[in-house]
Amino acid sequence: EFGEDEGGEAELAPRPPAVTVMGHVDHGKTKLLDALRKSNVAGGEAGGITQHIGAYQVATEVDGTERKITFIDTPGHEAFTAMRARGAKSTDIAVLVVAADDGVMPQTIEALNHAIAADVPVVVAVNKVDKPDADPTKVRGQLTEYGLVPEEYGGDTMFVDVSATTGQGLDELLEAIVLTADAALDLRANPDMDAQGVAIEAHLDKGRGPVATVLVQRGTLHVGDSIVAGPAYGRVRALLNDLGETVDEAPPSMPVQVLGLTAVPGAGDSFIVVEDDRMARQIAERRAARLRMAAQAAGTRRKTLDQLFEQLEKGETQELLLILKGDGSGSVEALEDALSKIDVGDEVSLRVIDRGVGAITETNVSLAAASGAVIIGFNVRPQGKATEMADRENVDIRYYSVIYQAIDEIEAALKGMLKPIYEEVQLGTAEIRDVFRSSKAGTIAGCMVTSGLMRRNAKARLLRDGVVVTESSINSLRRMKDDATEVREGFECGLTLSNYSDVKVGDIVETYEMREKARS
Ligand code: GDP
Repeated sequence: EFGEDEGGEAELAPRPPAVTVMGHVDHGKTKLLDALRKSNVAGGEAGGITQHIGAYQVATEVDGTERKITFIDTPGHEAFTAMRARGAKSTDIAVLVVAADDGVMPQTIEALNHAIAADVPVVVAVNKVDKPDADPTKVRGQLTEYGLVPEEYGGDTMFVDVSATTGQGLDELLEAIVLTADAALDLRANPDMDAQGVAIEAHLDKGRGPVATVLVQRGTLHVGDSIVAGPAYGRVRALLNDLGETVDEAPPSMPVQVLGLTAVPGAGDSFIVVEDDRMARQIAERRAARLRMAAQAAGTRRKTLDQLFEQLEKGETQELLLILKGDGSGSVEALEDALSKIDVGDEVSLRVIDRGVGAITETNVSLAAASGAVIIGFNVRPQGKATEMADRENVDIRYYSVIYQAIDEIEAALKGMLKPIYEEVQLGTAEIRDVFRSSKAGTIAGCMVTSGLMRRNAKARLLRDGVVVTESSINSLRRMKDDATEVREGFECGLTLSNYSDVKVGDIVETYEMREKARS
């Protein structure tokens, strides 16, 4: 659903960066977001009444050109984590806020780890420099130890001294964001296609119904578009910008409130524009069914030895991210050293995103959940609620007490990533309109092919009220009175499913095949 081609170079136009503000509690994330919004809302008046819609755009001038920046207005890495856990890449740049009086604190590092794991460049806002005990130099020194070397020390991270209270440094911060985006990223999107993006937040409004703030990532969203957002769908009745004004359309990187959805999507749910309402409903129902199935699966899931690397084998990643926890710094170092010597060629890679001594904590698990990393526990176990959380978030934790065993298994997993990967390709859907019993053929479903095609012997699943009832295949297929290999959209057919006869009028038959996926 998401792979729609964006076209060639000629179709791509620059788009503003989307920024998330992260950092330790009380270091000024909220105040900074407020200050930036008030000082500089694109087209807005300073101090004017602005709408809180979950994200906003500001404009700034860099080298004589007006540039826009989109801020996701939910401070803290929790939002970032929640979105990434759903697979949404909503952030291009992270602003790491560090209070100059407090310096680097545990959540500063946690936030930094999230940004690194997501491969998102960081700009450091050294905040509260108005305070008498502010020591911005100390902050630079502390972060250098974590690999964020300030530009002025020869590194490539921009540090900007700011005060959310006095407004000092805010323009410089905006400029640093633009310069970092220009240097590290190629932010372009095709504005002329159907819109795709991500829901940032959503709620149920008494008068207006479900209201979702979405960030358009590719294409342009228009009033009247039929959209699917997670399990919600609908036709866009109105779009509101960050000033609460109605607009007709939203280009890439613009946050807008969408009115007209039938339900409230979740933060981090992706949205797409589809052909019509009917299609929107179908996709939304299928998604809802998958969600239910995933929830069921997670509930009954028991860890087996091989599940750890399932994700890799499914080809969801070509990179194995690891978090190493051990009983001593010596063992962690030895493990990391041995891992760095595994030779798996260029196609896959292994990256240790965090390491430490001691029990596996909830912080480790939340980082793993957000980044898709696997936790390796070397003579250590989870502590407190970490086990529960790992189960809930489907985080794989592997325990070892012998280094070579850990290395052997990880090496095997990396090699597994090189196996061919199969993906499901939809062939079509059909609605069951009649059910006949025949003494020869068994139960025959009289269908109308509503999209794509039905093919004899193809894999098929039966959906009832959006829920998968059975996985099967098409055993026999007839068009009028004749056997057929394929029946296309818009035609009626009669079919039977292998090993399943309890079909009902209104059920949907979905057919698909597994194809080998090209490696990117
Ligand atoms: P958050 O938890 O990171 O969102 O932090 P807040 O934005 O809520 O700020 C925490 C406290 O620090 C509040 O009392 C703010 O007024 C104060 N604060 C934030 N930024 C500054 C600043 O630049 N200078 C000073 N002096 N205080 C600030």
